[in-house]
Amino acid sequence: MTLPLHHPEDQLLIGYASGQERAGKSLLVATHLAYCPDCRRRVASFEALCGSWFEELPCNDHDGLDALLDRMDGLLAAGGAPAEAKPSRPLAAGSLGGRPVPEPLRSWLPEAIDTPTDDGSWREISKGVWLSGWERTLSGTTICLLRMASGAPVPAHRHTADELLLVLQGAFSDEYGSYALGDVAQYVADTDHHAQGASEEDCICLFLLDGELIFLDEEGNPA
Ligand SMILES: [Zn+2]
Repeated sequence: MTLPLHHPEDQLLIGYASGQERAGKSLLVATHLAYCPDCRRRVASFEALCGSWFEELPCNDHDGLDALLDRMDGLLAAGGAPAEAKPSRPLAAGSLGGRPVPEPLRSWLPEAIDTPTDDGSWREISKGVWLSGWERTLSGTTICLLRMASGAPVPAHRHTADELLLVLQGAFSDEYGSYALGDVAQYVADTDHHAQGASEEDCICLFLLDGELIFLDEEGNPA
């Protein structure tokens, strides 16, 4: 498997390692870790740093220590899984074209997400670009799947807070780079970017949005 080239920013990895990051972004980071040995090592070292930092504090708050250790255990269980997801039933829960989506995301997906585009599970937002009918909200972050056919451009849009994408199948590109399996693309509020599918098969991404998604008309005004 090709290793990811685009990684979450350190700030996000540190937030994840310390248990301070919001649940939606933690789900994306934990899923990226299944693809990325480099980030697994970085998170492990951040976790070790958090641990030694804590040991230097006066040890009179045992409740706090227990809570921190519980959280570390939870993080390791969620994010420490090896990349080698075992081959699974084709089109089982949370699979893409028979290729399993890694945990922890896999447990979240209710059914095969590689379903035909005309069965109502995908909502076409422009020609060759779909959002999944499957959608969740975690601590204020909206989570769904974005699907782009080869060469299909995502319509111009603006967002009022962070947008994060994790590639689960195929590849896409925009003015900032090319993104393939396991890669993370992060855009801060008000970033203009023009993504389009860049693989023969449809590109499918985990799509996280903290604020509003506003589609724009040709003049760049809210449509
Ligand atoms: Zn990485």
